[in-house]
Amino acid sequence: MNFAVIGHPISHSLSPVMHHANFKALWRDDEYCALNIEPKHFHHIKDIIAEKALDGFNVTIPFKVDIMQYCDEIDTAAQMIGAVNTVHIKNGQWIGYNTDGIGYLFSIQEHLKDNMNVLILGAGGASRAISYTLVQHHRVTVANRTVSRVQSWPFEVACKTYDQLDDLSVYDLVINTTPVGMTGYEDTSLIACDQLKASCIVSDIIYTPETTALLKDAQQHQLNTINGLGMFVMQGARSFEIWTGQVANVQAMTEAVTTALKGRK
Ligand code: NAP
Repeated sequence: MNFAVIGHPISHSLSPVMHHANFKALWRDDEYCALNIEPKHFHHIKDIIAEKALDGFNVTIPFKVDIMQYCDEIDTAAQMIGAVNTVHIKNGQWIGYNTDGIGYLFSIQEHLKDNMNVLILGAGGASRAISYTLVQHHRVTVANRTVSRVQSWPFEVACKTYDQLDDLSVYDLVINTTPVGMTGYEDTSLIACDQLKASCIVSDIIYTPETTALLKDAQQHQLNTINGLGMFVMQGARSFEIWTGQVANVQAMTEAVTTALKGRK
């Protein structure tokens, strides 16, 4: 089978290496490539994909919203999230999914308890995917510079500006979904961990660097931390499962991405 990830820019994507490790571990003869698509050519997307004879593809920045108009069907979660990161091509029909939220959920599964009080920093695409997934079973507050962004979502979460975040000790799980702390951005974090309770889990969906300023601060306060590598792997694993109906080899995928990241240091 043939798969790809489309985006712009895309040359640094770890998806091909991750998916090939999975194909190899499962003795599959599939292909997965990175397709750089100039935004000005995006309206040719149907022809571009048809020419590659793909069975499915991932979608990344900046096309996760624009791709929706080309899908014949969009599953409920992706509609609520307002973005598609996985397209399954079945009998010529494009079916859109979003695996970011479920990927995040799977990546922290072992730390989840019922009805957690969750604080999510940021209100972009990744935040909306994670919020939609978590709000089914947990209490979610989203903090963002502008609350209007959250108020337009088609599901209910509490929202606050950073100034309105007063008592951080009430949260069981804090998730940074902003690029603050990412390589190339300022090495800082949006909250200080000194007010968090000892059982609070601090999660950052960034995985370069491996330990962001937020996670370092949390570790200095002896809190459990999780970076974004697991989410990246699990969203890819879920895409593979949608395309093939086969369970992905998550361990092979994780090892491949970890090795590739070490090679970049
Ligand atoms: P996005 O849609 O552009 O949203 C970015 C969010 O961050 C917005 O809410 C924005 O706030 C906020 N933000 C940006 N700069 C900020 C600053 N200096 N201070 C406070 N808030 C700031 O981006 P996205 O697609 O959600 O991605 C966000 C991050 O998640 C990126 O670092 C991306 O690499 C990472 N990510 C990781 C995975 C994974 O698999 N691990 C998957 C997806 C994304 P405003 O609304 O106020 O502008």
